[in-house]
Amino acid sequence: MQHLWAPWRIEYIRLAKSGQEKGCILCDKPAEGDDSANLLLHRGRYNFVIMNRYPYSAGHLMIAPYRHTCLLEDLGDDELLEHFQLVQMCIRIIRRLWNPAGFNMGMNMGRIAGAGIDQHIHTHVVPRWAGDTNFMPVIAGTGVVSSALDENYRELKPEFEKES
Ligand SMILES: [Zn+2]
Repeated sequence: MQHLWAPWRIEYIRLAKSGQEKGCILCDKPAEGDDSANLLLHRGRYNFVIMNRYPYSAGHLMIAPYRHTCLLEDLGDDELLEHFQLVQMCIRIIRRLWNPAGFNMGMNMGRIAGAGIDQHIHTHVVPRWAGDTNFMPVIAGTGVVSSALDENYRELKPEFEKES
């Protein structure tokens, strides 16, 4: 993935280094049940869609199985099919809402490959615009980013409800 300037990701790197985020957030967030606080957008049968709190660009979504596994090859046919149907759903909704110029989509498996959460597989969907960071306020203190995230959540959520 082409490097994007996303200064709020520094907070994420600091958290990771200090080990403040214990456990597995991709197991914890769906279990907590407060979907809007957790920026959880959609619950499928085997997988869910959640916004990335430390986005590379606005509308950076993640699709993950409920099942805790770091191995893509562990997923059964039903899990896999739904996983990629949700990838399609994310792309369809983002295209409809914000019409980005392109998307990056993919998985990082293992720390060495850039996985922030390396024990629980997930697929990233990252919409791309020419100039990217123009879409979100570039001055971006993390406070600015979280209010932008809440705003994006409020736009995205009804679209996922329509699709379900
Ligand atoms: Zn997990």
